[in-house]
Amino acid sequence: MADKSVWLVTGATSGIGAAVVREVRKRYPEAHVLALDINDTAGADLVAETGADYLHCDVSSLDDWENVVVHLESIGAPTHVHLNAGIQIAPPDAPLSEYTFEAATLENLEKMMGVNVNGVVYGLRALLPLMQSGSAIVVTASLAGVAPYATDPLYAMSKHAVVGLVRSLGGPLDKRGILINALCPGGVATNIIPDEQKTDEAVFMTPEALADEAIWLMGADENGRTWAKVAEDKPVFVVRAPGDKGGRHSRE
Ligand code: NAD
Repeated sequence: MADKSVWLVTGATSGIGAAVVREVRKRYPEAHVLALDINDTAGADLVAETGADYLHCDVSSLDDWENVVVHLESIGAPTHVHLNAGIQIAPPDAPLSEYTFEAATLENLEKMMGVNVNGVVYGLRALLPLMQSGSAIVVTASLAGVAPYATDPLYAMSKHAVVGLVRSLGGPLDKRGILINALCPGGVATNIIPDEQKTDEAVFMTPEALADEAIWLMGADENGRTWAKVAEDKPVFVVRAPGDKGGRHSRE
């Protein structure tokens, strides 16, 4: 029987998102993979490389999400949704002094919250009405969603927000048979890393290692939980909210 699964990945043309697209295309060649991003040039390259479908979608734009819903009419309901797009408060080539709470501009704050928080909310509002029992959502949060990140406190705030959303939606979505979990990576070698943090001593995980965990989480049969990934050779483990006593401790 043909694989009717429809994967949708935001922030899909670089880093963790691109690794998920590549791996899903490899593992499930029959699945439809819809890659969403704002970098259309990289999107065209990803389509040529993997055969994935690509659509321009700024996750902070309600209009763009409406276009996604229209696009899905001819494809089918998403079965695996990875809400992954994210940015820090300043661009990677900015000095770390521009990432501080004091230096952040209101314009950058609005942009970052638009991507990291509204982007997840808008994505869920657009896609949840389409999603059926048996489908799954992974939201890329960050270790900065469960622990302090002094370099970029406002980014940490935005990632704590999505962790709170995922934890709170676990129960209600469980009643619909839909899984939602948050993936919280430590440092990963991608374009989001500030140039100043790319020192010889810094150790980063590969985006492929996170893609493997994200794909596993789609079928983990756990709900509303927060999964940290701190080292390449250690599996994701649960960062428990107070009162969360059940379920697995880790992938192993
Ligand atoms: P990345 O910069 O390589 O990829 C981010 C992607 O998001 C890019 O393709 C970019 O074009 C896209 N994007 C940016 N703004 C967008 C928007 N408005 N709409 C749609 N797409 C947009 O970085 P990454 O590390 O792969 O980031 C993926 C996720 O992982 C982010 O949510 C990030 O916060 C999170 N994360 C990364 C790390 C790390 O160390 N790399 C650690 C923890 C969490």
